[in-house]
Amino acid sequence: MKQVVSPVISNDEIMPGGYLMWLDCPQIASVAVPGQFVMVLCRRRDGDVPLLRRPLSVHRVNGGRLALLYAVVGQGTQWLAERKTGDGIDILGPLGNNFTINVDSKKLLLVAGGMGIAPTVALADYAIDRGYITTLLIGCGSASYMYPAGQLDRAVSVGLNVVVATEDGSMGRKGMVTAALADLSPAADQIYACGPLPMYRAISGDIDMLGGKPTQVCLEQMMGCGWGVCYGCTVETENGLQKVCQDGPVFDIKDVLWNSVVDPVVGRI
Ligand SMILES: Cc1cc2nc3c(=O)[nH]c(=O)nc-3n(C[C@H](O)[C@H](O)[C@H](O)COP(=O)(O)OP(=O)(O)OC[C@H]3O[C@@H](n4cnc5c(N)ncnc54)[C@H](O)[C@@H]3O)c2cc1C
Repeated sequence: MKQVVSPVISNDEIMPGGYLMWLDCPQIASVAVPGQFVMVLCRRRDGDVPLLRRPLSVHRVNGGRLALLYAVVGQGTQWLAERKTGDGIDILGPLGNNFTINVDSKKLLLVAGGMGIAPTVALADYAIDRGYITTLLIGCGSASYMYPAGQLDRAVSVGLNVVVATEDGSMGRKGMVTAALADLSPAADQIYACGPLPMYRAISGDIDMLGGKPTQVCLEQMMGCGWGVCYGCTVETENGLQKVCQDGPVFDIKDVLWNSVVDPVVGRI
């Protein structure tokens, strides 16, 4: 884990309220792996709010550059959205565990709901570059909120299969991402899902949807420190209490006791 102040290379709104920030950060980019995250200080070092760093997933790495993809939802992410090229961002990472691929898996299905696309693209890049047959299923409310296809051009050119679903049918398949998941899971050896808590609850409550395939999820919880000190992100699992920041954020979907998990978006179970 390193703490570095990294210059912003670019910071663009690539979908409504969704920003892609590239940082020059070889110290973290060189060691980060898909599923990990960084804790970002979303204020000037001499400022006082927001006090706590904010967790953001590793979205992409390219040489010494690290990309974050974030939705503006509050004070911290709003501050981040206002940063310009050359500004320094204080980040701590990489943190947490990572996605794992079983030795006998060849065909991977990656499922991203909403901003769950952030960690999923890192895994898609990683998997396709190592020769896995990889399908990326992206779901969102409507076409105007879809992750821009151009961001995936390179991965598609080397074999990534992209399937999109929108709830209003304005792009790709009409309906929830979970319906498309049920159709695609039989062909996969392993599944990875990233999205909001209701998506995980829907999947975990309908095991047929996964076709019995091993499934990892990337869990979000409010967290104070990001490296195991404050216990603020603890969740109940089959293996006892676990810290999302240190034991996660990647968990086997079967291990999490979903009814006990607090939804960070609404702040209740
Ligand atoms: C391991 C991890 C990785 C994450 N990766 C990403 C990412 O790559 N991209 C991204 O956009 N977001 C990601 N998040 C969520 C992100 O950390 C929050 O959206 C962010 O902390 C909000 O900060 P804020 O100061 O802007 O909002 P705040 O003022 O702190 O909160 C405003 C509202 O945002 C929502 N919120 C706050 N924290 C979370 C949270 N942890 N998860 C979901 N909603 C939250 C709540 O509704 C809250 O009321 C991740 C969270 C975790 C735990």
